[in-house]
Parts: sequence; structure tokens; C-alpha cells
Amino acid sequence: MAQVIVIGGGYAGLASLISLAKKMPTLQLHLIDANQEHCKITNLHKTFAKPVADFKVPYARLAERFGFTFHQQRLQIDSNSLKRWQQQKKISLNDEELPFDWLIVSTGATSLFSPRGRQVYGLEHLIAGRGQALLELWRTRAEADQLVLSFVGGGATGLQILFELNTLLRQQNIDAGLRLIDMNNRTVPFLSESAHRYLVRKLRREGIAYLPETEFLEQTDTSIMLKECGSGRKYERESAATWLFAGVKRAPMSVPTNSCGQIEIEGDLLPDIFSAGDCSDYAGNGLNLLTAQAAIRKGKLVAHNIANLHANRTPRPYHYQEKGFLMSLGPIDAVGWVGLRCNLARGFPAHALKEAMESQYDLFLDGVDTYVGFP
Ligand SMILES: Cc1cc2nc3c(=O)[nH]c(=O)nc-3n(C[C@H](O)[C@H](O)[C@H](O)COP(=O)(O)OP(=O)(O)OC[C@H]3O[C@@H](n4cnc5c(N)ncnc54)[C@H](O)[C@@H]3O)c2cc1C
Repeated sequence: MAQVIVIGGGYAGLASLISLAKKMPTLQLHLIDANQEHCKITNLHKTFAKPVADFKVPYARLAERFGFTFHQQRLQIDSNSLKRWQQQKKISLNDEELPFDWLIVSTGATSLFSPRGRQVYGLEHLIAGRGQALLELWRTRAEADQLVLSFVGGGATGLQILFELNTLLRQQNIDAGLRLIDMNNRTVPFLSESAHRYLVRKLRREGIAYLPETEFLEQTDTSIMLKECGSGRKYERESAATWLFAGVKRAPMSVPTNSCGQIEIEGDLLPDIFSAGDCSDYAGNGLNLLTAQAAIRKGKLVAHNIANLHANRTPRPYHYQEKGFLMSLGPIDAVGWVGLRCNLARGFPAHALKEAMESQYDLFLDGVDTYVGFP
């Protein structure tokens, strides 16, 4: 019986596993992940209000639902291990050796800068479920003293979290000032200028200080050190804590693939090892951004191509094009585009659409695939 191993059970890895389980029920499927639970990262901004457990699904439950075997282990992955795995067609785990016919590497991305220092936080704190406890801490602080919180990074991740927290602070009458710091001269550069203007107006309306072209240097116990990008002038401002969302990079490395998703290391094709999701860098003209939308499509394509190879057919190249992008700006607002990039979507309808996209993924994990028409 043919055997497929997936390393990394995020959006891409699960899209591959679920598609393979449906297409080829006789395959033996294995998932190796460093954690015990799948985290629906695209909901992390909601974890100041809700427990992070609401957005995690144990791999044991998914394994039972889709008929794969789960192994919890963090694997060391680099060019040499990938070449060795292709040669040996097996992976050594702590307590066993797992042979494979096809292997999928879908290990995601990691923060460009990890938060260092006592009052500096990042995605890992939200994934670990610290959001609600921190909100409580700031509530107490704000009752005793003036509270200012700094956010670094004007990309989609930082802004989603900033506006969600801003709404909660208001709803709960926590008197806090918020500040957005960004080295760029505009927010979310991959969205249109009109989306940027919408965001800047909202920042102004909500009383959030916006410091573009400014570099974050350091957070101390009570203050933040900043540097103006143009003049190089350094200055200090009051700040109780800093949230660092300065971008992500493919992890543990950028994995180059051909247009069908098969890994190519320094020009050598590894025909039985595919990659999908944020870690993969696909050749060709398909959507190659670090988004869940691309991760799911790459994961599904790789499953389709393994089924093709199993049936002695040729694999298909990846041509998926982005259908839109929406970022949430608190519980009743969102901004982005749908259909055409010039088509600005905003406000409550955009937010409802964004939530519908989250529900579509929940359905997928329940076994109902509505990502129709692809590949
Ligand atoms: C706060 C936030 C909001 C976002 N919002 C959106 C959004 O609204 N829309 C959108 O399209 N995208 C969004 N994104 C991006 C989206 O979450 C990612 O593109 C998506 O998670 C990528 O899926 P993936 O499967 O490649 O990686 P991940 O979902 O990150 O999964 C990687 C998996 O690999 C495992 N792993 C990593 N290394 C190893 C190893 N060495 N050994 C074993 N296991 C390993 C990890 O434990 C993890 O389970 C958001 C990201 C963040 C952080």
C-alpha cells in the first residue's frame, strides 16, 4: 500500500491530507507536527476576547476523522536532510523509521524578528493563549496609571490585532492609548492606495497614533525607543508594552519547487518530495504569497499531483490566482478587495465575507470541501 508523509499540519498540510484521504482512501497517511494541535492562525486576533482553545483542533481528532496516523515531533529540515530523504525514501523518527512513496513538506513561516525583552510580545504569545491574561493585566494597570501600548508593523497581521484590541479596550472601558509604528511610508503595501487611506482614516478616528517611516529600537519597562527613518533622530516615548508584528519569513527555510510543487534543490529535482504552504516558493505564475488562501490551494494541488503520479499520469502545474484579500479591522469592519484589485471592499459587508471565509475553512476541517473548482 502506498504511503504519504506530511510534515507540518497547518492549512497546507491539512489540505493535502484531507484531499488525499478523500481521493485515495487506500493510501497510508502520516502527519508529523511539532505540536499536538492544529492552530487556526487566521483567527489569532480574536484571542484577546476568546480562549485560544476555541481556535485549536487536536491532531488526534483530525487523525480519527480522516484516517491518518499522527506523530508529534519537530524535525530538523535543511537541504541535506531533504536530499537524504529522497535517496533513502524514509524518515527517522524518535522511535521508528517511516518509509514513504511521497513526502510533503508544509512547515509554514516564522516571525522575521522574535520578540525579545520582558514587555515585548508577538504571535507566539497569542498562540500560547496569553491574550486574555494580558488584557486583564492592562485593565489593572490602566486603573492605576496611564497606559500606552505600542504596535510595530503596519501589515495585515499587526493591523488585525491592533483594531481587535482597540475595540475590546473601548468596550471594556479600559483607558489606554495605542500607537502604530511602521518603517514603511504606508500601511499594507500589497493593498491599494484606497485601502491604505481607509486604514489611516480609521486610525485617526479611533485616536490611534500612527508613526510611519519609524523604526522600533527597544522596549524598556516603561518606555519605547524609536528612530525616524529619514533623519536618523532617536527618541523615547512612554510605552507599557510592545507588540511586534514586523513580518514573517518561510521556515525553516525557503523551499524552492518546480511549477508542480516538487522540490528542487540547487537545480536537482527531488521527484517524490513536494512542498506546499508558506514555506514553499513555487516556480511559475500561481499565487505564491504567504497566505492561507495560497496554502490551501498549494496543499490541494500537491494532493492532486500525488494522485496523478500514483496513476502514472503527469502532474499539473500550479496556476491559482488570488480571488481577493480581506483583513478584519475589529468585530464589525474589514478592508480589502474582492474579484478585482481595484474593487475596494470595506465595512460590515467585507467583515461578513471574511467571516464566511473562516467558516469555509471550518467546514473543510469537518470534511465538507467547498473550495470547488480547484485544482
Ligand atoms: C495573525 C495572522 C492572521 C492571518 N490572517 C490571514 C488571513 O486573514 N487570510 C489569509 O489568507 N492568511 C492569513 N494569515 C496567513 C496564514 O495564516 C498563513 O499563510 C497560513 O497559516 C500558512 O499555512 P501553512 O500550512 O503554510 O503554515 P502553518 O499554518 O503555519 O502551519 C505550519 C505547521 O508546521 C508545523 N511545523 C513547523 N516546523 C515544523 C518542523 N520542523 N517539524 C514538524 N512540524 C513543524 C507547525 O507546528 C504548524 O502546525 C494570517 C497569519 C497570521 C499570523
